[in-house]
Formats: sequence, C-alpha cells, structure tokens
Amino acid sequence: MRQPLVAGNWKLNGTLASVRELVESLKAGVGAIENVEVAVCPPFVYIPEVSSLLAGSKIVMGSQNMSRHLAGAYTGEVSGPMLNDFGVKYALIGHSERRASYGETDEKAARKFVAVKEHGLVPILCVGETLVEHERGNTFGVVKRQIDAVLDFFGVEAFDGAVIAYEPVWAIGTGKTATPEQAQSVHEYIRGRIARCDEEIASRIQILYGGSVKAANAEALFSQPDIDGGLVGGASLDADEFIAICVAANQ
Ligand code: PEP
Repeated sequence: MRQPLVAGNWKLNGTLASVRELVESLKAGVGAIENVEVAVCPPFVYIPEVSSLLAGSKIVMGSQNMSRHLAGAYTGEVSGPMLNDFGVKYALIGHSERRASYGETDEKAARKFVAVKEHGLVPILCVGETLVEHERGNTFGVVKRQIDAVLDFFGVEAFDGAVIAYEPVWAIGTGKTATPEQAQSVHEYIRGRIARCDEEIASRIQILYGGSVKAANAEALFSQPDIDGGLVGGASLDADEFIAICVAANQ
C-alpha cells in the first residue's frame, strides 16, 4: 500500500510575510489528515524560516533543486549537506522549467537524482512531454527516455525509495489538466517500465501527477490506481486550495 504524497512547489513566489502566513494556515489545515504526507518546496532563501515554523508539525520540506556538487566554485547552487542542515526531505529533480530554462538534460537530471539519494534526501524526478511531443503522440517515448537516463546510468535500484512525478509540460501552469484516464495511462506505463527491471521497486514507488492540479480535479486524479498523489504548483500558494487537494488525497 503506497502512502499518498502531496507536494507543493512554490517556485519563485512569496515574501517572508506571505510564507509565514501560508505555513501557519497549512499547519492548521492539514493537521487532521492522517494518511497523506504533505510537503512544501519553498524558494531556497525561505527554507530556514519554513524549517523552524514547521518544527513539530507533520508537514515536511522539499527543495526545488539541488546541486550534485558538494562544495566549490558553483555560484548560485545549494548542496545536499546544506539542505540536510535544515531537515529537507525531498528534492525536485528535472522539473520541466529547469530542463527548459537551465539546461538540465536527462543526463544531468540523472546525476543529480543519484546525488540527492547519496545525501539521504528523496529525489522527486519530474518527467513529462511538451505539447509538440504530446501532439505527435510521443508521450511514452519521452517519458521512457527520461526514466531510462536514470536506469541506464545507475540501475533500477536508484528508484528504490524515490518518487517520480509525471508532469505533462502542456498542463503546467496552463489550467489544462490531463484527464484522469490520460494521466493514469502514463503512470501505468511508468510503473511498467520500472517493473520490467524490478517488480517490487515498481510496486513501492510513488508516482505523482502534476499539471494544474486543483481542488476541483484532485479527487478524480487521485482515485486512479497508479496516481499516488500530486505535485502542485500554482494551487499550492493558496492555503484553502492546497488543503482541499491534500484532503482529496486522503482516500
Ligand atoms: C509544477 O510546477 O510542478 C506544477 C505542476 O505547476 P501547476 O500546478 O501550476 O501546473
């Protein structure tokens, strides 16, 4: 039985005041939700503040990125040990915005994915096709390439204890959501791809859906057998919406 996970990706949003207000509302709103793990991924600069605000709560923290390097001349980067200092549990890897704007290739994402694990964090590997790839019917091919980059470099064991997020790029921040059936078919494909290498790892791995998840569509998505929760962008900045999404995952 896989525990649902709902992770909020705050991206480049917030002020110290708005972050404090959001965290306090989330703590009050998700406290009674029993069977769902709730994570928030603040901008790096707010991680220390969010970490102390979340002390004693059941909400955990994720980061939006992580360097695969430990230390050195890597301006603007944040390492695994730095995230460990603040009790960060998850790290998003290969988010489509980082693939599109910061040159994060499949290989770089795979190397970061393993570095995240080496530092005792849990990688959330984001995969998904663009609109052009979707319209060409190449969804499975793209997702296979992105997953296989990790499998080819590091083997299926790398996925043990990791999380995958299927995020069709055409659905991120656009208000367009994959139908529950469309999303389920890709999640089933991803699980099958891992199962070809190791059935147990495949049955354990949490596969989240991301792409304009909101309170109104969360329940239908999360009721699909291979959808184990959500990676939520825009709606995670609104406490009521995000809490309702977490409630929908508590099935
Ligand atoms: C995301 O950034 O991972 C995401 C899914 O964004 P949104 O929910 O806004 O589409």
